[in-house]
Amino acid sequence: MAIANYIKDTMSSPESSAIRKMFEEGVALKKQVGADNVFDFSLGNPDLEPPNIIEETIKEVAALKESHKHAYMPNAGYDFARSAMAQKTSREQGMEVSADFVIMQAGAAAALNAVLKALLNNGDEVIVPVPYFSEYKHYCANHNGRLVPLMPKEDFCLDLETLPSLINEKTAAFLINSPNNPTGKVYTKEELVALCDILKEQGKKIGRDIYLICDEPYRDIVYDEVKVPSVFDIYNNTIIVTSFAKNLSLPGERIGYIAVNPKASEGKQLVAACTFCARVLGFVNANAFFQRVVAKSWDAIVDFSSYKIRRNAMLKVLDTAGIICYKPQGAFYLFCKVPTGYNEDASVFCDYLKTFYILCAPGGGFGMKDYFRISYCVNLNTIERSQKAFCKAMNKEQ
Ligand code: PLP
Repeated sequence: MAIANYIKDTMSSPESSAIRKMFEEGVALKKQVGADNVFDFSLGNPDLEPPNIIEETIKEVAALKESHKHAYMPNAGYDFARSAMAQKTSREQGMEVSADFVIMQAGAAAALNAVLKALLNNGDEVIVPVPYFSEYKHYCANHNGRLVPLMPKEDFCLDLETLPSLINEKTAAFLINSPNNPTGKVYTKEELVALCDILKEQGKKIGRDIYLICDEPYRDIVYDEVKVPSVFDIYNNTIIVTSFAKNLSLPGERIGYIAVNPKASEGKQLVAACTFCARVLGFVNANAFFQRVVAKSWDAIVDFSSYKIRRNAMLKVLDTAGIICYKPQGAFYLFCKVPTGYNEDASVFCDYLKTFYILCAPGGGFGMKDYFRISYCVNLNTIERSQKAFCKAMNKEQ
């Protein structure tokens, strides 16, 4: 067989294939019983249309009469796009960030891979709070690194008492995602300050700068006046990776960026390293057309209220059915506890839910096999109608 053993094993492992498998089974089920009868909460595909300004800007960019507008460019991206992202980062971080510290990227996934390639030596470790975006494990492995899980405290708070025991000479970074996929948790400023104090102290002990990587594609999707705190002001060795996949609903266009804290100990070299890494990983530069689009429309006002309405509707459905879940402050996911009687195994429970045509993602891939994820970016009517199916599955009166 020509396929590498590691890939063969990984791509078919239950953890790596569960969500995709669920999605494919959902397609088959919808054909069989009709789309309206299937409650598909498996995938996190934003379903809001991009704001109108995107369509208008696309037309403007397409009409541009400029030579070489489809040509290669400096690998870090167009200066004007980097400047726009620097302005955005300055606003979010409450400090001046110049374009020199921004690298345009093909989405947050590409950005993360470039950063990890730039930071990791063979066998280095990246500490990640559990639960985490399932691809992180693969991204660390791509660069000969290893994801080290930090199990959560109650309500998915960071277990900062345990953290020091996980840090050693191989610790290159702490990777945090807020609002979090799959919990929707937003880490508080107090938690982040305490986290950074530990990274500073432990970094001194091991004689190594431990980088804080903040993965923030859901930054703007927050509810109830919650705000994602800034980090550049509390820790110098910070890198932000993000994209316009969720806030502008442009996941297919593959556009995002890296922003390095100007106060990072090797900031300029790090920017050069990430730029080089994105190039040799084969991403080369971010999509030229969409660099122009987001440079003009990054600050579009987007109404996320329908996500909040759907979050509340889904919470009500689960409460009625007697399923316990964490109330999220952002993103569009709910992370729910597997009810008793299923051996604390979400894959068993998700298979059971499937018999009621309810599709959810088992938590094993996110590092917690006793939980499952519901993605509520589906229409409100589907959420409301799912109550009957959930109640039937849980043997509950409605
Ligand atoms: N990080 C998290 C937490 C995500 O949920 C996703 C996508 O779902 C990504 C990164 C990748 O985003 P992008 O599509 O911008 O590569």
